[in-house]
Amino acid sequence: MPWQEMVRSLSRRLFLLLASALILLPSQGVSQELRFEVGTLKCEACSWYKGNTHTHTLESDGDSPPEYVAEWYRDHGYDFLVLSDHNFLLDPATLAHISNGEFLLIPGEEVTSSFQDRAVHVNGLNLHTYVAPREGETLVQTIQANVDAVRDEEGIPHINHPNYGWSMGPDDLSQVSGYRLLEIFNGHPSVHNQGGGGYPGMEEVWDILLTRGMRVYGIAVDDAHHFQGEFSKDRVNPGRGWVVVKASELSPEPIMEALQEGWFYSSTGVDLEEIVVEGARLEIRIRQRGNFKYTTTFIGSGGRVLAESQGSTATFELTSPEAYVRARVEDSGGNLAWVQPLFVEKF
Ligand SMILES: [Zn+2]
Ligand SMILES: [Zn+2]
Repeated sequence: MPWQEMVRSLSRRLFLLLASALILLPSQGVSQELRFEVGTLKCEACSWYKGNTHTHTLESDGDSPPEYVAEWYRDHGYDFLVLSDHNFLLDPATLAHISNGEFLLIPGEEVTSSFQDRAVHVNGLNLHTYVAPREGETLVQTIQANVDAVRDEEGIPHINHPNYGWSMGPDDLSQVSGYRLLEIFNGHPSVHNQGGGGYPGMEEVWDILLTRGMRVYGIAVDDAHHFQGEFSKDRVNPGRGWVVVKASELSPEPIMEALQEGWFYSSTGVDLEEIVVEGARLEIRIRQRGNFKYTTTFIGSGGRVLAESQGSTATFELTSPEAYVRARVEDSGGNLAWVQPLFVEKF
């Protein structure tokens, strides 16, 4: 082989080697970097605590005294409760005998305002001072003012039933800052959780906010008003939606921290045993009830279904750089559990 040809052949090989290295390197880099943020879901010494953060008593438009309502939840397997009457903060000392280490009452209020015909209801959790409802020049300003008012008193805000009165849409909610909790399920029969007629349901709203880069967790609540008389679909009874929080102990601060950081799941009847997050892997262990069957859907950016899994253990492996991954477990009776979105760690 003449030397000119040898040089040409060698430089061609060198070029191909460099080109393949350039193609391989970035893709290897991406796959190594895919990893979920873990947080305290990994906490070995923590326990799961079941609670409801939205309910009413005779102090506003409920039908039973605070003591009766607190006892209902205590006697039905709840570990904690927030009594959230409209524009009324109950002094927790009045029910100290019920909040006794086994069962925790966290003070709260449903700060109840409006803008024109839109309802603006924002819960304040773990409040120690009454928060008067605020009004603004626009709907967004009104929501923001009430969220800020709760934060100013060191409470944890959650935005309630956006589809009640078709009051707030995803474009309104994405202009509000300073909140992490949004009701995606509310047990009141008139709040339109599912949307319809061109209005998005609450899960769709949630996915829109998450896809826009907001860190928002979806909570399920009762908003119970009716503890007396008949329990039926058309009445506002308790026991329909709740959260189960992973915390170091049953006291207000760890419970509030867990709610703020997404260390919880929301439910209308599906119980989980554990949520395991390791590297790029998410495993959900469902507590088997009778002969119920379970389907778990893993959802990513834009509300896209990334995977579906059958059975009482569901696993998901992150292989593409999603902005978030959340899971929804449905049993054969139509009950649900929502696992909070996990965000992909950035390097
Ligand atoms: Zn309300
Ligand atoms: Zn309410």
